[in-house]
This record gives sequence, structure tokens and C-alpha cells, in this order.
Amino acid sequence: MGMLETIARVCDRCHRPLEDDQFRLSMTTAAGTRGVYECPCGAVTVTVIADERTSNSPRERQ
Ligand SMILES: [Zn+2]
Repeated sequence: MGMLETIARVCDRCHRPLEDDQFRLSMTTAAGTRGVYECPCGAVTVTVIADERTSNSPRERQ
């Protein structure tokens, strides 16, 4: 329904908040869209931008 929660994006290493100007690239995988942020400390953090739930089945194991 387009209801977005605010997701706290923090650096994996130093836990500083990640700002929009630290955004580097996004990539789309089968699981959804991921964003890559580069912290001033040098660490790269991958965050979830959007999840694809079109084929999310509780019994998708094969
Ligand atoms: Zn950091």
C-alpha cells in the first residue's frame, strides 16, 4: 500500500547514520532492491531499499 517505514541506516562498522550523500549505487536482486552506502570510515554497508514479495511463499523451499 506504499506505506514506508523509516529504516535506520547505519554503518556496519561504526554505526554512524548513513546519509543520502553517502549513497553509492543500488542493485536489484531476486530478493529486492539493495542500496550500497559508503561510510566516511571506509566501510561499505548494504541496506534493503525494497523487498520483492511477489513470489514470497511460506513454502518456497524445494
Ligand atoms: Zn562507518
